[in-house]
Amino acid sequence: MPTPLTKSLPNGLAEVEQDIARACKEARRERASVMLIAVSKTFDAAAISPVLDAGHRVFGENRVQEAKAKWPALVSAYPGTALHLIGPLQSNKAKEAVALFDAIHSVDRPSICQALAKEINSQNKRPELFVQINTGEEPQKAGISPGDADAFIASCRDKYGLVISGLMCIPPVNEAPAPHFALTAKIAARNGLKNLSMGMSADFAVAIQMGATHVRVGSAIFGAR
Ligand SMILES: *Cc1c(COP(=O)(O)O)cnc(C)c1O
Repeated sequence: MPTPLTKSLPNGLAEVEQDIARACKEARRERASVMLIAVSKTFDAAAISPVLDAGHRVFGENRVQEAKAKWPALVSAYPGTALHLIGPLQSNKAKEAVALFDAIHSVDRPSICQALAKEINSQNKRPELFVQINTGEEPQKAGISPGDADAFIASCRDKYGLVISGLMCIPPVNEAPAPHFALTAKIAARNGLKNLSMGMSADFAVAIQMGATHVRVGSAIFGAR
């Protein structure tokens, strides 16, 4: 049954907020321990503005070029907006990515580490960095294999001087997400990483149960793509 709050906020934002609050309560976690990243990929400024008007300020995009085309104007119109890159990153886009994004969730190979380290130094900007884990070991998917994760995380720190904030995963579409969230949480714990970027529209409540600190929710807020 929708509450008045559901009607006063745009799109699915109010419903997602309610679901997050409920999941936090069930998991005995503070609401403030989970950041909602509203994934606005493919949606234009007209679709995004109502969510900004409602006061939401954290957004996710999966492509550097698309974000560069639509966000600078919105960021100046809505101060305090933070942008998270959640899609795969190419080394030749590292410069633009560091300039535009406050967080990058897709660190997954040495060439990206090298490109990011160079840009972080030259731009003197420090986006929050997440290492993406390919928990399902899917060949078409970005991310480092679970078996290579510990060594890779160590090399991010030791070889490239990167500060890694946490881990990100995208479970395989046709599998139960919980084991993938659990594996990601386990790798994070043994590497001393406290942030977990996991959970999308279909499974963010499960992810919160399993410790997600950042949920990336698109269609439940903006509608189908
Ligand atoms: C598109 C996308 C999301 C959001 O997916 P929804 O199912 O629309 O919530 C989350 N994470 C990543 C990496 C994405 O590319």
